[in-house]
Amino acid sequence: MIAPAVTATPSISVTTAGSMLPQPARVTKIKEEAYAIATYDLLFEDEKVRQKYLFRPGQFNMLYLPGIGEVPISISSDPAKPEELGHTIRYAGNVTRAISRLQVGDVIGMRGPYGSSWPLERIRGQDVCIVTGGIGLAPLRPVIYAILGQRADFGRVILLYGARTPADMLYTGEFETWGEHDIQVRTTVDRADERWRGQVGVVPMLFYHIRLDPNKTTVLTCGPEIMMRFVIYEALARRISKERIYVSLERNMKCAVGFCGHCQFGPSFICKEGPVLSYAQVEPFFGVEDF
Ligand SMILES: Cc1cc2nc3c(=O)[nH]c(=O)nc-3n(C[C@H](O)[C@H](O)[C@H](O)COP(=O)(O)OP(=O)(O)OC[C@H]3O[C@@H](n4cnc5c(N)ncnc54)[C@H](O)[C@@H]3O)c2cc1C
Repeated sequence: MIAPAVTATPSISVTTAGSMLPQPARVTKIKEEAYAIATYDLLFEDEKVRQKYLFRPGQFNMLYLPGIGEVPISISSDPAKPEELGHTIRYAGNVTRAISRLQVGDVIGMRGPYGSSWPLERIRGQDVCIVTGGIGLAPLRPVIYAILGQRADFGRVILLYGARTPADMLYTGEFETWGEHDIQVRTTVDRADERWRGQVGVVPMLFYHIRLDPNKTTVLTCGPEIMMRFVIYEALARRISKERIYVSLERNMKCAVGFCGHCQFGPSFICKEGPVLSYAQVEPFFGVEDF
């Protein structure tokens, strides 16, 4: 099994502790973010469930549409406001396309939170370099909110973010506020349009525009696995240790509580030991076909 000494913050499930029963949750707001991507704010109908619910940045909920299916979706909102649970969703297939037909006021099933979280407590006082691509920013936005809430507790904070085109970038309306709180935001796109004045190229290239102190920087990354592989390469090249690099992994999952085995990754289940793991934990399996 994975060595516990280097695990990300381990999983807890407050709302449904031990139960797999989805609770009714109402859609209170829908915000279009980019093409085929929107953020759904969900509110548990039962006030008792609402009051008990807490999540940590990086955790996910299972969203359930009766007769269609259930999908894991990261929580993309502020952990200090657990009553407003944001989920930024890309319409990929059956369930997420059915979610795209929901309206404000509709009710779906929700259970969670599940999984491990980004190691915010452990990296307090340090520099943080967040590196994401596309919708990978969704599970990291709660980290940014948590840092904004306690900005003095962290050192330099840098966000390196890339998307296919400028129109595919998420949360751009918030970048200015993040900058005002001394979060350095650097962006890049694969394909520019006529209005884009920024960087063009893949996300790992942004490492060439910054300097990092390997003794006090932790890298948090989420995005396509190929992107994360190059991010890890660039971070290691800057002498950041494997224990200071954290990834969030996606695998198809069904139960979310470590029973069904769908999300097995080497000796671990991504739903329980993950999705957030240190590179030191996943190195033997990362990038290996069929893991
Ligand atoms: C921990 C975790 C957190 C996630 N967070 C988010 C999130 O915040 N926002 C979001 O939009 N999505 C997120 N996902 C991915 C999301 O769960 C899948 O896109 C969703 O399950 C697709 O379901 P569907 O029924 O709509 O599509 P399906 O009909 O199941 O699949 C459509 C296509 O996508 C492929 N696919 C489905 N799931 C995955 C996957 N996990 N990895 C790679 N390919 C897949 C299928 O093979 C198929 O080709 C997360 C996944 C995990 C494991």
